[in-house]
Amino acid sequence: MTEKVFSYEEAAAFVAKSAAKLARIPHTSERVPLARSAGRVLARPLRADRDQPPFARSTRDGFACRADEASSHAPLKIAGATRAGATPSGPLARGSAWEIMTGAPVPRGADAVVMLEHVDAADGFVRLLPPRKIDTGENIVARGAQARKGELLLPAGTLIGAAQIALAATCGSATVEVYRRPRVAILATGDELVPVNKSPASGQIRNSNAPMLAAMVAEHGGEPWVLPIAADTAKALDAALAKILAPGAQADLLLITGGVSAGKFDLVEPALARIGARFHFTGVRIQPGKPTVFGEIHRGGLPSANRSAGLLTGSRAGVLARTKHLPIFGLPGNPVSSAVTFLLFAAPVLRALSGSRDAEPRFALARLAADVKAKPGLTRFLPAACTFAGSVPEVALVSWQGSGDIAAMARANCFLVVPEDTDRIRAGETVRILLA
Ligand code: AMP
Ligand code: MG
Repeated sequence: MTEKVFSYEEAAAFVAKSAAKLARIPHTSERVPLARSAGRVLARPLRADRDQPPFARSTRDGFACRADEASSHAPLKIAGATRAGATPSGPLARGSAWEIMTGAPVPRGADAVVMLEHVDAADGFVRLLPPRKIDTGENIVARGAQARKGELLLPAGTLIGAAQIALAATCGSATVEVYRRPRVAILATGDELVPVNKSPASGQIRNSNAPMLAAMVAEHGGEPWVLPIAADTAKALDAALAKILAPGAQADLLLITGGVSAGKFDLVEPALARIGARFHFTGVRIQPGKPTVFGEIHRGGLPSANRSAGLLTGSRAGVLARTKHLPIFGLPGNPVSSAVTFLLFAAPVLRALSGSRDAEPRFALARLAADVKAKPGLTRFLPAACTFAGSVPEVALVSWQGSGDIAAMARANCFLVVPEDTDRIRAGETVRILLA
């Protein structure tokens, strides 16, 4: 098989382009209660159902007045009082003021609100204390200042969080239309693996990648579908792939871990090739995660031999209404490699499939706490701990025993990026981190 090894930048650019293409394919949607919409992606734009705010609103406790009258420091007659929730009152007579509470509608005729702290109020009159003056519009948010009725507030493709829920609630959306979650098949491969609820014999280890990736998939907007562990045999891999591609399985993305290195029992690529997979790249110059594979399987256009064997006939996408291809990632089996390559390459594709416009991996800048040495030639993503307690985020490597060190990864909260041509970064320098 011909190898296609990309630099990190080439692989990231290729993935970004693929993700953008997937994001443009129409997605299917469903309606969910607003209270359960956090983490979902809006499928229809949210528009203001009325002006926001719906009435000129006072932002202070105080007295609604005419700014020019108040600024003259003449005593103004207190004509009435309005609390939050009251219907707008007025008109405000000349030479008078109206007691008002934060959030209450400003009476017609008033053009400013003087703060309670800035006045002298006695015997039914109120006076702005000199030398203070007040401008027209002060402490009032005009009707429609935030949005006009019908105005676009959030476009489709917005990830819903607490603030978006607040906005939807303001607009009276008790339910919201969201994209369906992409269904992500997760297949761990390896003769050495046993499920978490089985005792490993000597030489065996527990399958930690599947639950880890299931958690990452859920976090990035997908619905994990964890398959039973596949042995390192052509037969086991063919059977697992047939199941994933069976009619009705409706996978939107396939993640396979293990079996993509150059070893004698690394049989994933040949198994994918047997069902007509096309490989975009079969390696990336990164550490950890060098043997990462990205490709796609054509859902319908297989050689007839495969079709007659029952593979792929009728295979349909889940969330994408029209797509001929199932994107696939082969992630190296070492847990840190699987995690890093998921974040760098699989997560952007998953987020695009989820309909989110925010598909890019998240990098941030931090100050390096201690010198880091590396061998040039690979872009490195090293497990690190970033603290946010100081004025600037500060990052330090966690000590690790290589890409199998799950304990180190569990002490980390990000990955320090060491560029391909760099052999040393000094303490105090600004560095990039990949947020976990
Ligand atoms: P591979 O990519 O198949 O060569 O796997 C590399 C190493 O990663 C293996 O030797 C295992 O120690 C480890 N590994 C592979 N798959 C898993 C898994 N699902 N869970 C935990 N460790 C794994
Ligand atoms: Mg293996």
